[in-house]
Amino acid sequence: MGLIEEIDRNVELTWWEGDIPVNYVYTYGLGLEKFFRNLKDNGKFLASRCESCGFVYLPCRTFCERCLEPIEKTFTVSGRGEIYAYTVCHENHDGSPKKKPQVAALIKVEGTDSVMAHYIGGVKDPGEVRVGMAVAPVLVPKKERKGGILDISHFKPARR
Ligand SMILES: [Zn+2]
Repeated sequence: MGLIEEIDRNVELTWWEGDIPVNYVYTYGLGLEKFFRNLKDNGKFLASRCESCGFVYLPCRTFCERCLEPIEKTFTVSGRGEIYAYTVCHENHDGSPKKKPQVAALIKVEGTDSVMAHYIGGVKDPGEVRVGMAVAPVLVPKKERKGGILDISHFKPARR
């Protein structure tokens, strides 16, 4: 089959197994850079509000993704919130079973219009997790932070 040949029967596709070496550099952009640097250095969650439409972003942004207006100011939010949605993961990415189930959740963060995806910890059983449950972030120790999302270890149940 040549490269310009049109495929009209998807049962005749072939595949290739192996590793593809891919080298890349991922850059956060200005907004996420500010967010993750502040999280790493100060343990603070920076949000930003669009002055035009009022939407509050977490992590902070430098422009509004809704109305494209520039956003200049940031402010700190606690990072506390409540579980908006969750799922219980029983397998690793490669399909192998996890030693114990892991809860991944979308967390609606207080004072923002955003949700943050992360793990839920501090529960004995995934069955304890509920939509609407109050949670608080648990950061890794400062000297171990690397400037990424895993500087947040997980979110744990919290009081309102
Ligand atoms: Zn806006």
